[in-house]
Amino acid sequence: MSWFEARHEVVVEEVNLDRDLSGVAQPFDVAIIGGGITGIQVAREAAGRGLRTVLIDKDDFGAGTSSATSKLIHGGIRYLEQAQFGVVRESLRERRILSLGAPHLVEQRRFIMPGWRWSRPSTALLGAGVGLYSLLGFDSNRNAPPSLCIPMPRWMSARSVRAAIPWLYDDGLQGAWVYHDTMNVFPERLLLAYAASAAADGAVLLNHVEATGFMMQGDTVHGVEVVDRLDGQRYRISASAVVNAAGPWADLVVSSLQAELGLSMVRSKGVHLLTTPVGGAASTTDTVFARGRSGRHVIVSPWQGHSFIGPTDTEVAEEPDDLRVQSSDVELLLDTVNETLGSGVAPMVLDDVVDTTLGVRPLMVDEGKSSYTASRRHEIYDHATAGVKNLWSIGGGKWTTGRATAVQMLDLLVASPALGAATLRRFDSRRTAVFGAFGWAEDAAPFFSEVISARPEIPLSAETRVHLARLYGTDSARIMDLIATDPSLAAPISQRPGRLDIAAQAVVAVTDEGARTLSDVLDRRLVIGTLGPVELGEIERVGALVGPLLGWDTDRIDAEVGSEHQRRMQRRISWGALSR
Ligand SMILES: Cc1cc2nc3c(=O)[nH]c(=O)nc-3n(C[C@H](O)[C@H](O)[C@H](O)COP(=O)(O)OP(=O)(O)OC[C@H]3O[C@@H](n4cnc5c(N)ncnc54)[C@H](O)[C@@H]3O)c2cc1C
Repeated sequence: MSWFEARHEVVVEEVNLDRDLSGVAQPFDVAIIGGGITGIQVAREAAGRGLRTVLIDKDDFGAGTSSATSKLIHGGIRYLEQAQFGVVRESLRERRILSLGAPHLVEQRRFIMPGWRWSRPSTALLGAGVGLYSLLGFDSNRNAPPSLCIPMPRWMSARSVRAAIPWLYDDGLQGAWVYHDTMNVFPERLLLAYAASAAADGAVLLNHVEATGFMMQGDTVHGVEVVDRLDGQRYRISASAVVNAAGPWADLVVSSLQAELGLSMVRSKGVHLLTTPVGGAASTTDTVFARGRSGRHVIVSPWQGHSFIGPTDTEVAEEPDDLRVQSSDVELLLDTVNETLGSGVAPMVLDDVVDTTLGVRPLMVDEGKSSYTASRRHEIYDHATAGVKNLWSIGGGKWTTGRATAVQMLDLLVASPALGAATLRRFDSRRTAVFGAFGWAEDAAPFFSEVISARPEIPLSAETRVHLARLYGTDSARIMDLIATDPSLAAPISQRPGRLDIAAQAVVAVTDEGARTLSDVLDRRLVIGTLGPVELGEIERVGALVGPLLGWDTDRIDAEVGSEHQRRMQRRISWGALSR
């Protein structure tokens, strides 16, 4: 049974048609607000420990900050500059746990950190940082198969750097420090895999359901008032404990309580660019982490045939829903990356920008620090200290540390009187592979080879098979089963090169993975929506596949396709790229 079906058994009687949330009338032990990585990991941890768990998100799972990251599962080497040793150590520990638990979605990468004569911090100091980073990750290779072992950092001569990164600014180049970190290849899919793990342990996960207020008895929270944003219906969800994991919205979620809860957070806007490959096609497979003369740092990662460049870090006063990528964000990133290009290399211009992503960091307030230097630690607030019982909020944190935050959150919850006599079971998320993983701490290559040669009668290329195996892990067998029943589902969604999604994925997005809108399908179940503009014909193809499953008639399908196309165009207007 798929995780979405498991969810519907509890909550919705008529799958995919009228969404009936009457099942949420049952009391839960824990209700979680927010389905970003923090909330999803809390749900996984809570359900894993046997608690009756419900999670709601006003948009889709992972639609917030968690899908707009630098795509790194990392210790955060640059936080060493601010002496955030605890954050870096915790993140490196989590990097190992995530890599071993999801080897198909967490991929090792070589990072190149160049040093120039004028570098600040100096090249020698950068080397000390890289050494310390490696030291703090002293247990990275425990239980890891050879393919997942993190090599020791080393120095690379200027000549070798020129060969490895031909586009790099050459004047004054002394060489580079080389170290390894990991990529979160498809953060949207890894988040879904954790969601599926939570659902497999009984968690009820509801997207497009917004928390609008709290159910109170005196000073005690005993549930959440919600609205289903797809049909406007209002419900009340009873729960012994409520966890507010709404990331950069966390302070807004509790604002209805009109209590002084002390949840002070700074919001910082983080933009990335998806561009044509810096330095031309396939110029490197390494990620470059460089700091130009301006002192601004930039990460350039090869990703899906493009370069992924960022991030910006701009403190903002606006609420997250009001933020857009501006042309100034794009210009800042282009200027920053252009500082690192050699004199013979054509500067990156607006025409090279294929798309942008926008995330909002929920940072904890640190006196006298900017958002760039503010700590990336997480903070858990027990609002009982401010007179509101059975309500907790989580602030700050990183994608990488979501699991560790969840463990801490659950330890606090089970120690509090809120849960009463809830029955608990043992659960160790450190050693539990994520849903769909082919094993814990295993090499991905044999699994991919097996998928390439399995079921030769299914008409899919090796490249598409690996694509599916990476996205779904062992659950890719489900896609194969569908194609065996209906070979037309092997058809690609797009005729454009580099876009490997097929029709069966769109079907599974709705039947198995909780997608309710075209954006849910395009942006967070399939990969096509993360690769730049989606053509109208491609949206139409997806609409025709998922519309009937969602109970849409032809008029509704046309309307949904039209508005999704419009929404995507609008998003591009703000930063000045309409022509693509
Ligand atoms: C530019 C950028 C790059 C980053 N890069 C990395 C990286 O490479 N590696 C890393 O480890 N970390 C990275 N981070 C940090 C990381 O992305 C965040 O710390 C993490 O994603 C936060 O997750 P979250 O679940 O707390 O918040 P979110 O992912 O924002 O989730 C909050 C959810 O709450 C929902 N919500 C809001 N209000 C309500 C409501 N009223 N009712 C119901 N639901 C609601 C939202 O819809 C949203 O889905 C980066 C951050 C940024 C901004």
